[in-house]
Amino acid sequence: MKAIAVRPGVPNTVHLAELPAPKVSDIPNGRGVLVRVLRVGVDGTDKEINAAEYGQAPPGYDFLVIGHEGFGQVEAVGPNVTELKPGDYVVATVRRPGSSIYDLIGTNDMTTDDTYFERGINLRHGYLSEYYVDDAEFVVKIPPGLKDVGVLLEPATVVEKGIAQAYEIQRRLRVWKPKRAAVMGAGTIGLLATLVLRLRGLAVTTFGKTPGPYLNSDLIEALGATYQSTEQLSIIEGAKKYGPFDIIFEATGFSPVVFDSMQALGKNGVLVLSSVTGGDRRIEIPADKINLEFVLGNKVMVGTVNANREYFEMGVKDLAQAEAQYPGWLGRLLTDPVKGLENYEELFARLTNPNGAIKVFCEVA
Ligand SMILES: [Zn+2]
Repeated sequence: MKAIAVRPGVPNTVHLAELPAPKVSDIPNGRGVLVRVLRVGVDGTDKEINAAEYGQAPPGYDFLVIGHEGFGQVEAVGPNVTELKPGDYVVATVRRPGSSIYDLIGTNDMTTDDTYFERGINLRHGYLSEYYVDDAEFVVKIPPGLKDVGVLLEPATVVEKGIAQAYEIQRRLRVWKPKRAAVMGAGTIGLLATLVLRLRGLAVTTFGKTPGPYLNSDLIEALGATYQSTEQLSIIEGAKKYGPFDIIFEATGFSPVVFDSMQALGKNGVLVLSSVTGGDRRIEIPADKINLEFVLGNKVMVGTVNANREYFEMGVKDLAQAEAQYPGWLGRLLTDPVKGLENYEELFARLTNPNGAIKVFCEVA
């Protein structure tokens, strides 16, 4: 079968690879699920893997099949699979267990291991192929009513985990009734964070760079949230106007925003950090002021990465609620379909030069 792959460690090697089609029996415990891939989203991670910034081939291969935002349909299941059947729509999780205590209790998103096993990212092939097989434990069912937007589930799980963690942490307050939230960044993750916080009933202000109106600011306003360009009002001034913020979700990919966000956070608030910043940028910050306000205001800051099965299941419920509450909104994020695995060059061209694109994805079948 065909697949889109890279040669890890060598920049710009994205190519069409040929490999044997997987079988249900590749999973030895009778719990195999063979999935025909329908759509796969791509994002900055795929771009960075192709730039050889990270990613390793699975043992025995000199290439890595990329793609971690999969959506497909079950083709066949092993004899011990009762929860899925051929024809079901599914999305598979990304990370596979290592050996830390967190992996052993089913929370491999919290691993303390140094090696990650991640489909399409590190040491495991991804989903940009005609088929894949996996253990049913990692395959999540999607209701048919969400089949047109199911490819958004994996990016949504990043948001689900961050927000669920924030609520979990805030149980420290005995009573927490958050009213106002801010989202830093208006890309795919920022848009999905705005959605999930609106579904939780919060007043949301989303900060982006570009002055509106444009598609992303229109989408934010369609949720009843406020869009604010940081070129017109700084985050700290914005907090005076729209805050105080009980929760801030940071998803800009630009680390200085973290320190502005710390200052924009209200008393007893929680700041969720989700940007992966691989550089070594240095900035000057008002350290005493930030520290003092964190101490006197009982504030919390938490980092979040990856998502395990429970956040995929939460994501399914939120996508369903979103379709009921804001019909058609999720579909508007799917701006850039690219037909066929063989058009991998176009897929990467759109990813590298987004030109207003929100979600770039491959229509595999
Ligand atoms: Zn992703």
